[in-house]
This record gives sequence, structure tokens and C-alpha cells, in this order.
Amino acid sequence: MPNFANNPDRASWLHVGSDSDFPIQNIPFGVFLTRDDVITIGTRIGDTAIDLGALHQLGYFDGIPLTDDIFLQDTLNDFIADGRQTWRAVRNRIAEIFDENNDALKSNPKHKDVVLFRLDEIEMQLPVQVGDYTDFYASREHATNVGTMFRGKDNALMPNWLHLPVGYHGRSSSIITTDIPVHRPQGQTLPAGANSPVFGPSKAVDFELEMAFITTDANDLGDSIAVDDAEEYIFGLVLFNDWSARDIQKWEYVPLGPFLGKNFASSISPWIVTLDALEPFRVPSPVQDPEPLDYLKSTGNKSFDINLEVAIRPHKSSESVVTQSNFKFMYWNMAQQLAHHTVNGCPVNAGDMMGSGTISGPTPDSYGSMLELAWKGEKPVQLKDGSSRKYIEDMDTVILRGYCKNGSVRIGFGDVKTQLLPCK
Ligand code: MN
Repeated sequence: MPNFANNPDRASWLHVGSDSDFPIQNIPFGVFLTRDDVITIGTRIGDTAIDLGALHQLGYFDGIPLTDDIFLQDTLNDFIADGRQTWRAVRNRIAEIFDENNDALKSNPKHKDVVLFRLDEIEMQLPVQVGDYTDFYASREHATNVGTMFRGKDNALMPNWLHLPVGYHGRSSSIITTDIPVHRPQGQTLPAGANSPVFGPSKAVDFELEMAFITTDANDLGDSIAVDDAEEYIFGLVLFNDWSARDIQKWEYVPLGPFLGKNFASSISPWIVTLDALEPFRVPSPVQDPEPLDYLKSTGNKSFDINLEVAIRPHKSSESVVTQSNFKFMYWNMAQQLAHHTVNGCPVNAGDMMGSGTISGPTPDSYGSMLELAWKGEKPVQLKDGSSRKYIEDMDTVILRGYCKNGSVRIGFGDVKTQLLPCK
């Protein structure tokens, strides 16, 4: 099926600001609560939220094989399980309905009244029920920085790192969306120079600038996904802040990896931008040397040029952007991650989420965590209000943003904002 929703020449009869992340070429999917307290699946053009459940009931998706209640759900899981043909048909139809030359909905005030919402009339929800969540460690710059800090420059990358996308299984129960505050976690840490651990609030709460992709049903137990087929199973991407308590993490991680330092909260942006919408922004991945094993060799442009930034907004103050990075810096791309994840026969299901790992760029102003930006506290980051940060302080709000841009189109993710509250 052609993907004509991406036509860069199309304009919408809905207002779209010139710097909007959500032109008619984006058509992301999300879940929101309406002013009438109804949960529905929706999309967004400019600053207008669109109730897809209402559109479907009014017959605007006639001719596309969809169950009657596909959009009247509190998660996107069933829609995602329908597969790429359906996602594409629905995005194409939405592009038609909101094309400036199409009067059907545009000139029907009764229909518009039940379909369209201002953003202040809705409340975004977590878009998927995440079944399983995996986090990778796929930025060479990040792995090198962290390795240098903890093991020295000569042993920065572990021997496996250039041969496989390192990852661990995370916890889905604490995945939240934007505007949900997080309490500073407490736990066990080993203070510098001490011989025995202490218990108390973490003193090193950090963000991790990541993206995550959401999958559809991909393989049965025992089957693998070939690297060249892997993108078929990727529905779309979100911004992802993988909250981390560095002091808890440092003490607990040997030998099985991250645990309580990571699973107290993970924040994702509420609109899932489809892989289809990101097509125009493909770029080559970094050259891989040594060459990976055959099952990880990917061809074609499998990385995406997505500008990323993180801002910190102290309580009752204005924000400071503390880093700017790009998704294209990832050493291991999403197709390689999915091929590796399933090479042993591990099933991947609709609604699973795979985090990229912290996305650090090559320069110190592009590092993806406070651990790196402030170099484990040695170089505090200066904020515009005159204060400085080694890690995130109580009442700070951390904001992740991301967008792609070429000559004519900007496709963005909006943001994911999380305030850190004091320890409970
Ligand atoms: Mn992470």
C-alpha cells in the first residue's frame, strides 16, 4: 500500500503553526481522555486533537477493515497488532479527511463538534500497555564515557560491546507518560570510602536521553526475526527518559545489571510517531568496525536523523537546555536490536517497548545524561538562573524534546515533561 500520507505538498484545513511538530504529514497515534471523560484513541494535527473513535463511528473509515471498537480503547495495543497495512490505510485516510481540499468533515460543524478537541480539553494517557520493556546500551559515545569514568580510558568499552547490542530487561510497571511527577527513590548505596552500605534517598537522580520503539506481534517462541525484516515489526517511536539513580545503580549492578536504580520510573512522550512518518529522515548508520556477525549485518539507511534536546526547569524558574543530541548517533540501529533480541527465539509482542540506551553525541554539549554532562559531579552544569546541577534536584522538571526537519517538513514528537518530587 502506498504511503501517501507523507506527501510534503499536502496542507490541512486545520491550523498548523510553522514550527509545529504535528503537521498533516505526521499523524501520530495516542490515547486521551476527553472533556466528557471518555477515553479514546486519537491523533493530532497542529494543536488540535482528533478523536478517531468518533470519526470511525461517523463512518469516516468506511472501506478499511477495522473492528467497530478498535479506537474505543484505552490503549493502542489492538490497533498496533492489526499490522502495517492497517496503520498505513488509517494514516492515509486521516490525511485525506483533513486535506484542505476535502470538505466532508471541514464543512460539517456537527461532526467537527464531536471529533475535534483543543489540547486544553484533553488529558494524554499512556499510549500502550507495555507488556515487556528492554533497554539497550547502543550509543558508543555513552558507553565510552561511562566506561572511562568507571574503568579508565583503556578499558572503556567491554570486549562484547562492538559485537552485539548490549541490553537488559527492564520493568514495564513503572512506565509513565508526560506530566506524571516522580518521587526521588530511596535505596541502598555505598558512600565513597565507606565499607558498608547506607539506606536513604538517592543523591544522584539522573535523566537518560533516549528514544524507544514500540513493536507489533513479531515472532513465535523459537523463531527469529531477520535483520532485514525487523523494521516491518516497528510501529513507531517515542521520546524516552529512562530515570536513573546513579548511586543505587553503582552499588547494586554487579553482576546482573541494573535493578532498583532504574525501575522506579521511565517516562515516555504520549504521541507515538510512526516509522512510516519518519521515512523521509533516514540516514546511514555509523560505520561498524569490526564488521558484525552475519545475523546483525544490516543494509540500507536504518538510522534516523532526529534532533533531541533536554531542558531542566528549576522550581518557579525558567528552563535551561542542557544538551542537544541526535538519534542518528546510535551505533546499533533498531533493526539490529530487534534481530539480536529475537535471535535466540525470544518472542516480541504488540506493545513491547525497546529503549535505545542513552544517546550521547561526540561533543560534551551532546551528552545524554547528567552523569556525563557534569562528569560524575566534577563539572557541575550551569543553569540560566545562576544555579548549577550535578544531578536533578527536588522540584526540578526535566523536559525531553525531539524533531526531524528537512527542506519542507518538520515531524516532531512534542515533549515528555516530568517533575522530580522529594522522597516519599
Ligand atoms: Mn537507559
